[in-house]
Amino acid sequence: MDLDHAGEAAFRAEARAWLAANVPAEPLPSLETEKGFAAHRAWEARLHADRWSVVSWPREYGGRGVDIFSWLVFEEEYYAAGAPGRVSQNGINLLAPTLFDHATEEQRARVLPAMASGEVIWAQAWSEPESGSDLASLKSRALRTDGGWLLSGQKTWSSRAAFADRAFGIFRTGPEGPRPHQGLTYLMFDLSAPGVTVRPIGRLDGKPAFAELFLDDVFVPDGDVIGEPGQGWRIAMSTTGNERGLTLRSPGRFLAAAERLLRQWRATAERPDGHDTALRDRVADAVIGARAYQLFTYANASRFAAGESIGAESSLNKVFWSEYDIALHETALDLLGPAGELADSDWSEGYVFALAGPIYAGTNEIQRDIIAERLLGLPKGRR
Ligand SMILES: Cc1cc2nc3c(=O)[nH]c(=O)nc-3n(C[C@H](O)[C@H](O)[C@H](O)COP(=O)(O)OP(=O)(O)OC[C@H]3O[C@@H](n4cnc5c(N)ncnc54)[C@H](O)[C@@H]3O)c2cc1C
Repeated sequence: MDLDHAGEAAFRAEARAWLAANVPAEPLPSLETEKGFAAHRAWEARLHADRWSVVSWPREYGGRGVDIFSWLVFEEEYYAAGAPGRVSQNGINLLAPTLFDHATEEQRARVLPAMASGEVIWAQAWSEPESGSDLASLKSRALRTDGGWLLSGQKTWSSRAAFADRAFGIFRTGPEGPRPHQGLTYLMFDLSAPGVTVRPIGRLDGKPAFAELFLDDVFVPDGDVIGEPGQGWRIAMSTTGNERGLTLRSPGRFLAAAERLLRQWRATAERPDGHDTALRDRVADAVIGARAYQLFTYANASRFAAGESIGAESSLNKVFWSEYDIALHETALDLLGPAGELADSDWSEGYVFALAGPIYAGTNEIQRDIIAERLLGLPKGRR
């Protein structure tokens, strides 16, 4: 595999120089808080001003029109530079691919530039209290009205919805038919529209951005329906592969974290207990894992670039990165010893978040079912 494709070195150097000149010297406050959310929105605008917010998008929407390999290179540089987390990631990783595949030209022109600049930040409103893994059983409805739809129901576990501007979700608009996947429609709506109540859900780390949404006859114009009414399931599923397979956790994040872990190992290796070989092996595993994930992702990207889709193999990625993330953080905390337990240590905060990895973006139990049935051809389990 040739990882040094034409133009990569120049692109990498340009990205590195820009990041070196622009990444804030002090870390921004957490994007899960109101103040941090605003600071991260301003950072999105800074990225956008020099066309670094969505490098692989066409130029007309604010991108640089570069290929997926350059995007991976950018991500590697981004994380290596210690740049802020991306508060726009739900929009960029989930809604944008959906719009590129299924929206009208008018919708793309209206939604994508404001997403690229951070002017409009999106929340994902898929899950419901009784519908997470079994998402097709969702009950929130959209009823036909003059010029649009009226949304009613409850959505939950919506990341950063407490501070976001708009949300995208799937709603029941017709009879289920023989399968619950039928009669669903994909819609965008304003979180500040009349009839929307946003209520923060307490998280283990106390940050207030996670929320549930109560919808009471919320009007959505026809222009905010994506694709045909009734086709919501097909449209939603065509984009989850992106999230699990490629865009949600690029290897750059883990390469940078493994490098940080290695530095920490070297710094503590001189301590009397610094020759713990079991711990040394775990550090080595973390470095190897990040590199293996990078190569696997480049292989997937090559398939993407050749016009293939990733499909069920995205589940392999999702299980790998979520379990890897926990192991990496546990190794760092064991290396730090009691100091790692301090509430404001990056590793302990990261560990708490890593624990959610096997749950969000589809639980790992469900991913393992997909791997068993669709990749290994094993019989369907009893549900
Ligand atoms: C940090 C975080 C952020 C999130 N952000 C968002 C967001 O922004 N927007 C959004 O819409 N949702 C979001 N979610 C919700 C997430 O997608 C769901 O939590 C997830 O899909 C699981 O659904 P559930 O919580 O209803 O659990 P359930 O589906 O009730 O599952 C409970 C347990 O049973 C297991 N299980 C269920 N069915 C099966 C089966 N058939 N076979 C084997 N095991 C099974 C599950 O794997 C799990 O272990 C987020 C979740 C977290 C933790």
